[in-house]
Amino acid sequence: MEFRNVDEIASWRMCLGCGACAYACRQGNIRLVDIIRDGIRPAVGSGCDGCGDCVQVCPGLDTSHKEWPENALRELSRGWGPVQEVWEGHAADPEIRFAGSSGGAATALALYSVERLGMHGALHSGADLDEPWRNKTVFSRTRDELIKRSGSRYSPASPCDGLASIEAAPSPSVFIGKPCDVAALRKAGEKRPALKANTGLALSIFCAGTPSTLGTLELLKKLNLSAGEIKALRYRGMGWPGMWNAALKNGKEVKLSYMEAWGFLQKYRPLRCYLCPDGTGEFADVSCGDPWYREAGETEPGLSMVVARTGLGKKAISSAMDAGYLKLKRIDPALLARSQANLLSKRSAIWGRLAAMRIFGIPVPRLSGFSLFRNWLGLSISEKTRSFAGTARRVITRGYYARARRVSQIEGETGKYQPPERGHP
Ligand SMILES: Cc1cc2nc3c(=O)[nH]c(=O)nc-3n(C[C@H](O)[C@H](O)[C@H](O)COP(=O)(O)OP(=O)(O)OC[C@H]3O[C@@H](n4cnc5c(N)ncnc54)[C@H](O)[C@@H]3O)c2cc1C
Ligand code: SF4
Ligand code: SF4
Repeated sequence: MEFRNVDEIASWRMCLGCGACAYACRQGNIRLVDIIRDGIRPAVGSGCDGCGDCVQVCPGLDTSHKEWPENALRELSRGWGPVQEVWEGHAADPEIRFAGSSGGAATALALYSVERLGMHGALHSGADLDEPWRNKTVFSRTRDELIKRSGSRYSPASPCDGLASIEAAPSPSVFIGKPCDVAALRKAGEKRPALKANTGLALSIFCAGTPSTLGTLELLKKLNLSAGEIKALRYRGMGWPGMWNAALKNGKEVKLSYMEAWGFLQKYRPLRCYLCPDGTGEFADVSCGDPWYREAGETEPGLSMVVARTGLGKKAISSAMDAGYLKLKRIDPALLARSQANLLSKRSAIWGRLAAMRIFGIPVPRLSGFSLFRNWLGLSISEKTRSFAGTARRVITRGYYARARRVSQIEGETGKYQPPERGHP
């Protein structure tokens, strides 16, 4: 199917909310709207001339590997994309280590790039201070700003809507985002050479899916809290894995364990995240996740798994260690799979899910270079059946065979959402 603009892509539920289309539209004709039960989605204005710039940068429609670094480990490529080295450790700065989501590696690498490599700053995401249950795209230039915006936020964020700030910066800058955000950065860089030239380092965090804003609002409701009572909201960090922590305007705090909070929020992940094969930032220079191969205690000081994916990433890791920003040790690359088994299960189910959707004539994303069929072949017969039949059933029961209403039609209703159906497609 040919798409005239991203409005059509979003109406087929392929948008993953990166924000790159808003950057790519030269007429400034695309607004991003937080559709509370889905995620951040584009609303295209009536002046669209169908130039296709937004479609060309959209990772929701097409995320494909075109280049493969020569030194990538062959044994990991099928499940994890290009991997050159796997490390474990943490930010050397104890404050960053503690505040960070895992061991603060992403923040430490960004700070090193700014303080020692002369990069202008880091484009990434942080809490919206006016509505702390939502996120905002931010450009951090100091240690203090980077620390304030550290920590995973299990709610929609669209850092690529700020790519113009990288393009316009007087020197290269760092980008930090989810795997789909980094895929969008790379596509946008192909279209805009000035962006590509000014992208100093691309960092990804691992991602199993972004819960919608409704997830956070429903969690607050379950705890008898209203959004208006919240002064600040962290989803984790301040230790590893850290606590979900709502600081209230009356000075009190309400906390949940990481497992309680993620266990609730993950049910609010949209369809597109279940069709996403890249959970570990395969298009980044460096990606950071949790070394879940062993159980974390309640309050450990913080540990990151750090994956070097490109030559630039390898160099950034070793020079950040030499300069005293990171403390890491090389680990057996097989620990990546042991740490993120859920991401491999999801990737393996995707070929069956897409096949079921194709039978109904539903447009699906193009995803090449992820060995989807070979991964699916590795499933048991019952898992294969489930991936196909479960999706077919949901296509019917949830009406995925038809286009969803356009963002501009839904926008006015954001106050009256019904909880979405739960569970994966
Ligand atoms: C939606 C989501 C799903 C995740 N799923 C997994 C998973 O499956 N496996 C796993 O190991 N870890 C997962 N994580 C956690 C994250 O990958 C790790 O904590 C990672 O190690 C980063 O830790 P750090 O201490 O290096 O990062 P920090 O130093 O704390 O920095 C985190 C960076 O991420 C950015 N960021 C935070 N939230 C978002 C967001 N929603 N969108 C874009 N950028 C954001 C911040 O701006 C900050 O720059 C998930 C995180 C999110 C937000
Ligand atoms: S995936 Fe990104 S580029 Fe594509 S429509 Fe959604 S926000 Fe726009
Ligand atoms: S699961 Fe994939 S598509 Fe969904 S937010 Fe994470 S990286 Fe993006």
